[in-house]
Amino acid sequence: MKILFVSSEMSPLAHTGGLGEVIAALPNALREIGHDARIIIPLYRQIKLEYEDKLEFMRWAMIRIGWRTMYSGLFRMQIGDVPVYLIDNEFYFGHDAIYLDYSFDIERFSFFQRAVLEVLGEPMGFEPDILHLNDWQTAMIPVLLESHYKNNGYHSSMKTVLTIHNLKYQGIHGRERIQDLLELPQYYFSEAGVLKDGVANFLKSGIMYSDRITTVSPTYAEEILTDYFGEGLNGILAAQRWKLVGILNGIDTEVYDPSRDPALPMNYDVTNWLTGKAFCKKTLKQDLGFSSKEDRPLLAMITRLTNQKGLDLLLRVGDELLTSTKAHLVVLGTGDDHYEYQIRELASRYPRQVRALIEFDAIRARQIYAASDLFLMPSLFEPCGLSQMIAMRYGSLPIVRQTGGLADTVQAYNRYEGTGNGFGFLNINAHELLYTTKNAVAIYNKEPVAWANLVESAMTGNYSWLNSAREYLALYEELLAVERKEK
Ligand code: ADP
Repeated sequence: MKILFVSSEMSPLAHTGGLGEVIAALPNALREIGHDARIIIPLYRQIKLEYEDKLEFMRWAMIRIGWRTMYSGLFRMQIGDVPVYLIDNEFYFGHDAIYLDYSFDIERFSFFQRAVLEVLGEPMGFEPDILHLNDWQTAMIPVLLESHYKNNGYHSSMKTVLTIHNLKYQGIHGRERIQDLLELPQYYFSEAGVLKDGVANFLKSGIMYSDRITTVSPTYAEEILTDYFGEGLNGILAAQRWKLVGILNGIDTEVYDPSRDPALPMNYDVTNWLTGKAFCKKTLKQDLGFSSKEDRPLLAMITRLTNQKGLDLLLRVGDELLTSTKAHLVVLGTGDDHYEYQIRELASRYPRQVRALIEFDAIRARQIYAASDLFLMPSLFEPCGLSQMIAMRYGSLPIVRQTGGLADTVQAYNRYEGTGNGFGFLNINAHELLYTTKNAVAIYNKEPVAWANLVESAMTGNYSWLNSAREYLALYEELLAVERKEK
């Protein structure tokens, strides 16, 4: 089967978060199980500079976008086993950042989507069976595919799957501008088509026109049908529910492997984690200047500092949590100014117990996953979440709010059955976080056997992308079977 992933990000070429990691891993996993998965992304300036000698020019064409006619170059390179195609245009993508300002981004990704559709088939030498789209930057493709191509007899059997990694960002703009940029016939501009509350909405359009919609965990797929999580699109999603499924992300288990990770002062696996983690913890504590010699639990948080991640819950009970548990706490993250300030402030009030590392540092992140005993992730919502899976693989037990992908990946400890791989609480309530953390610390301090069972079950969980790849494949196969039946 031939699958083309269309995305605004791909790690390591250009990425800002989870989306980039997914696009790097999933096509690889699909290739491992015998399918021809490829990727197409914009050729951002940073890629041009860093990978100049790997980029191979394929062709160029002129594309109409609004009143302009723009150059669109097509390049190709190979990342591992995966062929990656890149759309070149200096005006749109010759910038340092992936995302610029809101209004310009609408135009940039309108161009990208039109350029992608223009190169499918003969120009790129690849006619995919499935176009796998990701987030709003690619969500107009099903509409354009229908109006500009299928209705004229091109790519008639191509199917589209749209994955929603983040429902919050939808790509919204006034209809005149979108009509101009995309040259869509008038009849698409209704509430049954690309409009939502009178304005054009890319993500909504993708939800309406793609053949299937996926999101990144089964629980989140249910949650987004409700007002609280639905970001205004829950009604539309509910109407399209028949084509919505949740498929859990995985993590790159080769990269995130404590037995081989070169960032760690000592490697370990499930047979010697007690020694390995103790050494990693001792080293990190020395690095960070924690003076206490006694073994106290080390709590960690590695995250974007935004409201989504439940920082208000932690800050609300921070004092009581630190004084009652005597635990150490390390927060590694960057984000909203007021959270950066408040985390720094907490660290300055508890200089013996807390460190605020306000930076993005992937090496430090791995050292913290390995050194910590507990990993806090009290998110208000979490489509999937990768950090909790990385933490578990490194034997740091997650304390999560049981929402979205956190509910699907973390089984809360059950004292009576002796099961679980972490700790969980249900409500957005700071005292539930406090209570759950105190309970976890008590088990760490007093019940080494129960603790060891938890760590071992966390470390041996299956977080591989192959499971997800098989589920996506079943979805693609089902779509193509429908196509064959219709013929
Ligand atoms: P999201 O995609 O919402 O940011 P995820 O849990 O899905 O959250 O993915 C976050 C990823 O980014 C994880 O791999 C995490 O380790 C990493 N990360 C977040 N903040 C930092 C940071 N300050 N330094 C290094 N890595 C970070």
